[in-house]
Amino acid sequence: AIRIAGMNKWYGSFHVLRDIDLTVHRGERIVICGPSGSGKSTLIRCINRLEEHQSGDIIVDGTELNSDLKNVDKIRSEVGMCFQHFNLFPHLTILENCTLAPIWVRKTPRKEAEETAMHFLRKVKIPEQADKYPGQLSGGQQQRVAIARSLCMRPRIMLFDEPTSALDPEMIKEVLDTMIELAEEGMTMLCVTHEMGFAQAVANRVIFMDQGQIVEQNEPHEFFRNPRSERTKLFLSQIL
Ligand code: ATP
Ligand code: MG
Repeated sequence: AIRIAGMNKWYGSFHVLRDIDLTVHRGERIVICGPSGSGKSTLIRCINRLEEHQSGDIIVDGTELNSDLKNVDKIRSEVGMCFQHFNLFPHLTILENCTLAPIWVRKTPRKEAEETAMHFLRKVKIPEQADKYPGQLSGGQQQRVAIARSLCMRPRIMLFDEPTSALDPEMIKEVLDTMIELAEEGMTMLCVTHEMGFAQAVANRVIFMDQGQIVEQNEPHEFFRNPRSERTKLFLSQIL
């Protein structure tokens, strides 16, 4: 579980996240939406300390995220992340991309790491691409490799930041299908996405952020049909 309480973050003098309170229970699937610049990526990035928060608490599975590097490492080992840009290593094969961290960070024996990598490449339905290089794959395939690569570290929580927004329309579905499967298997997920169909189908809670605050959250049916705040209504009228 993730417990965020009274959390604030500034970029210099700019107050980017304001009094964030958010608890995510194991197995929850949360979609975060909101206008550009509302702080969605910053919030996600604070959860594995790609960004530092300045006040309040972030506690992941009982470990507090603070300047103690032991804690940071522990949390990062439990939290996987996928971004808009897949950040695969271009000079490594797909299989090598998936085994790099398990071998060098986790000290997993190579053979075992490769078996695990193939397991997850089968899961995202591209085992036949294992020996190719990222540049030889489509965007959708590369994003599925990025998801498989995260899964190879056996995370308990997955964070997604607009994983489909750099993809051509025909490739969005294959990535969303992969994410839906993960959700069905019980993965705890926090997804920043504008895919409202995905939110309706998969999320158990939708969170709307604006100007660094959580303005509203609800289960998807209510969220889309009966948004409470004017800001949420305006946002939904623009994207739906
Ligand atoms: P988008 O939908 O466009 O991805 P977002 O909701 O993810 O937006 P963030 O990327 O979290 O928004 O940015 C929130 C605010 O913080 C924006 O005003 C942005 O300009 C600012 N910001 C983001 N990163 C930095 C940084 N490293 N330094 C200073 N300001 C930043
Ligand atoms: Mg963003």
